[in-house]
Amino acid sequence: MRLFGKHGKKKKTIIKRRIYAINKKALNLILEVSKESYPKEFGGLLRAEKGVITEIMLLPGTLSGNTSAIFQLHMLPVDFTIVGTVHSHPSGSFHPSDADLHLFENFGHTHIITCMPYDYNSWCAYDYYGNKIDLEIVE
Ligand SMILES: [Zn+2]
Repeated sequence: MRLFGKHGKKKKTIIKRRIYAINKKALNLILEVSKESYPKEFGGLLRAEKGVITEIMLLPGTLSGNTSAIFQLHMLPVDFTIVGTVHSHPSGSFHPSDADLHLFENFGHTHIITCMPYDYNSWCAYDYYGNKIDLEIVE
């Protein structure tokens, strides 16, 4: 899976951050689905165009269980417009769990976690390494 796994130090220069923003509609949808799914987690994939996340794809039949069960890598489509994952936490923390970090480094490079109460202050984006990143909200 990891193309540059043996040369960890090189990864940062090779994987460039191309995603800088999220469309307001997509963010609203993420927060809405997070709210609807509570107290369960929801999982989805993020799709981007020209550096902006524009769409989420809900994974069918994933509205239950925990994150590691939600994202089974073999069921993820091969689609190069997909940049990473999104999921909700039915708690007040958007901090990634160990399972989340494992997911982040195995699939895509831009990930979002939402938490209660699922408003504009209760989400966070992370990179491949689980470092927080800033995403602009654009119309
Ligand atoms: Zn999580």
